[in-house]
Amino acid sequence: MLIVMERHASAEDVQRVISVVGEMGYEARPIPGHQRVAVGVVGNDGRLDAARLLGIPKVLEVIHVSQPYKQVSREWREEPTVVALPNGVEIGGTGVVVMAGPCAVESAEQILATAERVRAAGASVLRGGAFKPRSSPYTFQGLGEEGLELLALARERTGLAIVTEALDVETLPLVARVADIVQIGARNMQNYSLLKEAGRSSKPVLLKRGMAATIHDLLLSAEYILKEGNPSVILCERGVRSFDTQTRNLLDLTAVPVVHKLSHLPIIADPSHGTGVRDKVRPMARAAVAAGADGLLIEVHVRPEEALSDGAQSLDPGEFERLMEEVDSIARAMGRHVAAPAGAALGGSGV
Ligand code: PEP
Ligand code: MN
Repeated sequence: MLIVMERHASAEDVQRVISVVGEMGYEARPIPGHQRVAVGVVGNDGRLDAARLLGIPKVLEVIHVSQPYKQVSREWREEPTVVALPNGVEIGGTGVVVMAGPCAVESAEQILATAERVRAAGASVLRGGAFKPRSSPYTFQGLGEEGLELLALARERTGLAIVTEALDVETLPLVARVADIVQIGARNMQNYSLLKEAGRSSKPVLLKRGMAATIHDLLLSAEYILKEGNPSVILCERGVRSFDTQTRNLLDLTAVPVVHKLSHLPIIADPSHGTGVRDKVRPMARAAVAAGADGLLIEVHVRPEEALSDGAQSLDPGEFERLMEEVDSIARAMGRHVAAPAGAALGGSGV
């Protein structure tokens, strides 16, 4: 960290900064320049509070030289993190992992039929919310535990791994017992007690970007999970709020190369929530894979017009098949391929 002093700062002003940094437990060294003095902080491990330093008279600005996140950074670990699932699928390797399924689990018939169709089209992970974070308390909130049981049944029938959301600290252990990947949704990206609880779980975590969160915020939230001892985090770009009303959110695909540069963690894209509009999902899925995304999260419903949530952005199984064909061609052009569950190449349904 560099603390830049104002032009006319006196030697006493600089000394005051050095003393405060000392009180905070770090060593500070003045770096005299032509026009002004800067103070370099040695050994800052990311916990130094910049706001306190900015409050000292004659401090002009504080420049972060190293990042406040550590374990998620490329400097900490050079090789990409690869998250292995029980069905043999790996996220973060050369395979592009497609997670697909309805927004919410609604009934046995709906989830089993959707699971069969997405698996036949080449998905390797089934998504579906049992506990739903809905903007309105009057809309469908999910089937809860019954939804988890139905997801487990769908896994048994199809061999697909399961990703489903944990809404709070109380129900996370329940969700983690069934899920192969525990999802933390956009609304909870900065729920630090939930992040810590996920960090104490042995299950991989899919961490979605908050709707007004920077990429930096997303990495800091992931740091909470790694710090508690869980290294298996998959990040997800799901769109941020914007001023344009043509789409529900603005899918920020620059997050893909930015995260790959800053972090060793895999990142997938969710063009369903990222656009909110069915006919925008395929183009943005193609773009995400071309941008280097390690996977996709796609909402698919056997009857989108009857969906209890997010029907307007859900693909029907036929549209999903087309998406998979397109994504496969793009993945191959990038030297990758769409990941398949172990045994899928044999053509069986895994039942
Ligand atoms: C979801 O994936 O079902 C969901 C609610 O997404 P988000 O948290 O990105 O809004
Ligand atoms: Mn949804």
